[in-house]
Amino acid sequence: MSKPCLATVWLDGCSGCHMSFLDMDERLIDLAEKVEVVYSPLVDGKDFPEMADITLVEGAVSSAEDLEKIKHIRQHTRILVSLGDCAVTANVPSMRNVLEVDKMLREVYLEQVAGQPQIPNQVVPALLPQARPVHEVVKVDVFVPGCPPPADAIYFLLTELLEGRQPDLSALTRFGK
Ligand code: SF4
Repeated sequence: MSKPCLATVWLDGCSGCHMSFLDMDERLIDLAEKVEVVYSPLVDGKDFPEMADITLVEGAVSSAEDLEKIKHIRQHTRILVSLGDCAVTANVPSMRNVLEVDKMLREVYLEQVAGQPQIPNQVVPALLPQARPVHEVVKVDVFVPGCPPPADAIYFLLTELLEGRQPDLSALTRFGK
């Protein structure tokens, strides 16, 4: 029998939530026996599968590319999980929301820079007017607060979901930690 498919996605985050995923240490071996990781910054596969059973999403939706990606992923995921405060509340990426995009880019790349001031205009995806939590643009099934959420919480989350239960993470997570 084939294993459930697990995907992890990195939008506008610092990779800290993925580092916490890796902090499960030897429990990753246990997890590898239960799931197939089909898409992730941690594996080679470049195409999102036709259907993932569980997708963990790190980071806020900040760019046009993020928006397109998360809409596609939502359509191809059974259980979508907002992993970490940036996904749940927009957290750190939302600090730029107080400024309009043009003004923010000018301040960061021109006015606050000592050498070679230049606004990046190649390869970098266009920013949305605001960084937004994932649930503001697509339906989210499970929220996991924390910056980052602890490895224990991620392991509990996954084992509960794999057993078909809705995890109660209230004792294992808190915003900002
Ligand atoms: S929640 Fe914290 S650890 Fe996770 S991506 Fe955001 S800033 Fe990084």
